[in-house]
Amino acid sequence: MGNASSIEPTKTVFLDIDGKKEKIMFSRHCGSRDIHDLIAHAAGVSRYAEISLRDSTGAFVSLNPTMPINTQSSPYKVTSKEPSPTTGDGEVFTQVLSQVASQFNNQLSKEGVFKVEEMKTDIATRLSALERKMELEGLKAVEIEKCKRDISDIKDQIWNAQKKFVDFNRLSRDTHIMNRKQTLSTYRKYTLSQETIEYLKQPTFDIWHWEPNEMLSLLEHMFHELGLVAEFNINPITLKRFFLCVQENYRNNPFHNFRHCFCVTQMMYGMIHLCHLWEVMTREDLGILMTACVCHDLDHPGYNNTYQINARTELAIRYNDISPLENHHCAVAFKILSNPECNIFANVDKDTFKRIRAGITMLILATDMARHGEIMDNFKMKLEPEFDYKNKDSLDTLKMVLIKCCDISNEVRPMEVSEPWVDCLLEEYFNQSDREKMEGLPVAPFMDRDKVTKPTAQIGFIKFVLIPMFETVAKLFPVIDSTMVEPLRIARDRYEDMKEKNSMPPPPSQNNKKKTVTEK
Ligand code: 5GP
Ligand code: MN
Repeated sequence: MGNASSIEPTKTVFLDIDGKKEKIMFSRHCGSRDIHDLIAHAAGVSRYAEISLRDSTGAFVSLNPTMPINTQSSPYKVTSKEPSPTTGDGEVFTQVLSQVASQFNNQLSKEGVFKVEEMKTDIATRLSALERKMELEGLKAVEIEKCKRDISDIKDQIWNAQKKFVDFNRLSRDTHIMNRKQTLSTYRKYTLSQETIEYLKQPTFDIWHWEPNEMLSLLEHMFHELGLVAEFNINPITLKRFFLCVQENYRNNPFHNFRHCFCVTQMMYGMIHLCHLWEVMTREDLGILMTACVCHDLDHPGYNNTYQINARTELAIRYNDISPLENHHCAVAFKILSNPECNIFANVDKDTFKRIRAGITMLILATDMARHGEIMDNFKMKLEPEFDYKNKDSLDTLKMVLIKCCDISNEVRPMEVSEPWVDCLLEEYFNQSDREKMEGLPVAPFMDRDKVTKPTAQIGFIKFVLIPMFETVAKLFPVIDSTMVEPLRIARDRYEDMKEKNSMPPPPSQNNKKKTVTEK
């Protein structure tokens, strides 16, 4: 038995590729595509390139196994052209990807938010299959890069579609206004009335009254008014860009959104004024307090640490289950500040920046409620026999307690302002517990829609967390008693009334009355 080459006669064709002599050999039984690929390989172009051959007379020679043979002295001239990046197979991939994305959008509006995660996994699998295929098919590097960019764009589209979906279905106050990317030119300066300027210093300030752009202006005003712009020599434009960037990095969660960030910061501003904090701490400390408030929930995903840990999310893995969210908020804050255009601390010296960074990190990490007992015990110890404002440890603990107060201070506000926040919080809780049920994870009773009501959610929180904490702070700053503890007592009583009313049996109907009489 002879070998294959002796049975299958090969054909030899000589080529001239840009003056370089090449030779290809192929079997008479191979396909036209094989010959095309062979020439493409010899010419150093992709198999997707368009290839044409001309003989010495300039006539085109067809690429197939029956093509006429030639001699070394009269090679076929090869010309090749790669497909343009916007056409050909690269485009086909892009089209497929777009279809995947639009299918995702359609599904999204039909199926509801709880399908989102499932669909995201499905899309991710399909995208990576496409990516693999793309590599295997041997697209040119430039096309692969383009496809990768397309994939990344489509992933962004999916993310935005998901966000939009959440917006339209949530009907919270921040809907439609929070998700807008804007530039400095569209971020107008609002002239604040003297009345607003004074009102802004009060815990009674109506935080629902303001559009996001107005909140940005109010934040700016607070930083100017407290002398922080002067203290850190902040470029006013950098300050604007910083707040814009912060705003864009809060998600449209029912509760943990940019308005919550604004509330916490405004309450800190209020406490600074009520307690005359500038008398007991430096401007730098005030700057650390205010900036920590602004950044304290950055990029909050709307699911708490317990969820992160139980679901073994990327954040929990990255931070080894140790305050994953707070670590993340803090990391995002310093990512924003690492951009020179947004770095409000660009003009401070190295040592000052180090102190500011350590201070902000400490305060954001202190907002993890899992550390509530530890921080409060520590603070109570510092109060005895007398609080020492000169002691760094004591002052740090005070600052931690202050940010904690502001973080959970909604119930300090008048009822019309505070009550909608409870709906927002419960919406976010129920969202989480529904997902936990779906994913077979443990569900906290205080998040369970079958177990919680507005009054039950608030009574315990006000009685056992808020009042004791604000009463402790009032020992240091007596003004807190009338301005913050008293409204908390009123809120507690109101929720207790509400609970009582909820648990009262409905008034008996006419039939029931009759029945009662007969029974007697
Ligand atoms: P944050 O997540 O905002 O940094 O930390 C504060 C946490 O305290 C919230 O996630 C929430 O669990 C809790 N919290 C804040 N305000 C209230 C409230 O008014 N009622 C209840 N029940 N919990 C609250
Ligand atoms: Mn918060």
